[in-house]
Amino acid sequence: MIPAQFEYHRPDSVAAAVDLMREHGDEGRVVAGGHSLIPMMKLRMAAPEHLIDLQGIADLKGIEVGETIRIGAMTTQSEMLIHTGLADAAPILLEAARQIADPQVRNLGTVGGNVANGDPGNDLPALMMCLDARFTLVGPDGTREVAARDFYEAPYVTAREEEELLTAVSFAAPPRGHAYEKQKRKIGDYATAAAAVLIGAEDGRVVSASVAMTNVADVPVHSTAAGEALIGTACGEDAVQAAVAAMQGDIDPVEDNRGPVEFKRHVAGVILARAIARAWDRA
Ligand code: FAD
Repeated sequence: MIPAQFEYHRPDSVAAAVDLMREHGDEGRVVAGGHSLIPMMKLRMAAPEHLIDLQGIADLKGIEVGETIRIGAMTTQSEMLIHTGLADAAPILLEAARQIADPQVRNLGTVGGNVANGDPGNDLPALMMCLDARFTLVGPDGTREVAARDFYEAPYVTAREEEELLTAVSFAAPPRGHAYEKQKRKIGDYATAAAAVLIGAEDGRVVSASVAMTNVADVPVHSTAAGEALIGTACGEDAVQAAVAAMQGDIDPVEDNRGPVEFKRHVAGVILARAIARAWDRA
C-alpha cells in the first residue's frame, strides 16, 4: 500500500528537530532509517501528518570510544560493524549488530531508531540493558538521561516523551567476556529468542555478570537473578543451569508464528546456556 499523505521536514540541528516535534505534537513523527516506520506507514498502521527526517543532522552521527562509549542516534548498524575502535572496546555490539536482519536493513537502520522504537523483537534494546547503557533524550525542557533498564514500559511504549528526541546511547566499556546468541527462523528474521551475556572474571571466578533477553516477553528483559546466579562461580554446569532457571522466572513469552510458549522457553534456555559458555570462554 501507499502511505497516507504527509508533509516532509528536514531539520539540520537537534534544536530545529525538537522545535518541529513540539510544534506538531502527536501529528508529527521523526524518521531515522525508516526501516520500521515506513513499513508501518505503508500498512497505514501509522499515518503521521508531518514526517521529520533526521538524516540532515550531522550532530546525531558518530561513535566515540573511551572509558565511556557513546554512539550517536543516527549511526547506522552497518557503521558500528566497520568501526575498529568499537570492535576492540565492545565486541558484543558487533556480534549483535551482525545478526540484525541483512546488510540492506543494516545500511539504513540506525541505533537510535532500533532502541527508540520499543519493539521487543529488536536486538539492540536487550543488548543496551545488558550493557547498562544510558539513553540521552533532548526535549523542549532540556536534556535528560534514562537508563536502558528503565526505558521499556510496554510494546512500543517507552519512557521517551512524545516531544523528546533520543540523541545518543552511552555505556562504560564492558568486560571481555561477552556473547550475543540469537535463534531465528531464517536469515533476516527477528529472534525467536536471543541472549546477551557479559561476564567479568578474576582468578577463575565470575566477579560480574549481566544477562538480558530479546523477544521472550512484551518488553526486553534484563534478568538480574540470572546474572547473580553466576557470580562467585566458575561457570560450571550447575551455575549455568541455575542462571537458566532464574532467567525462566523473568521471561513471559507468548505463542505466535515463531512457536508455542513451551518451545520458546526451551529455545531461550538453550541459547542462554550457549551464550554463557561463549562469554565465559572469552572472559
Ligand atoms: P525508523 O523506522 O526510522 O523509526 C522507528 C521508530 O523510532 C519510529 O517511531 C521513529 O519515530 C522512532 N525514532 C527513530 N529515531 C528516533 C530518535 N532518534 N529519537 C526518537 N525517536 C526515534 N531489527 C532488529 O533489531 N533485528 C532484526 O532481526 C531485524 N530484522 C528486520 C528485518 C526487516 C526485513 C526489516 C525491514 C527491519 C528489521 N529490523 C530488525 C528493524 C531494523 O533494525 C530497523 O532499522 C530498526 O528497528 C529501526 O531503525 P530505523 O533507523 O529504521 O528507525
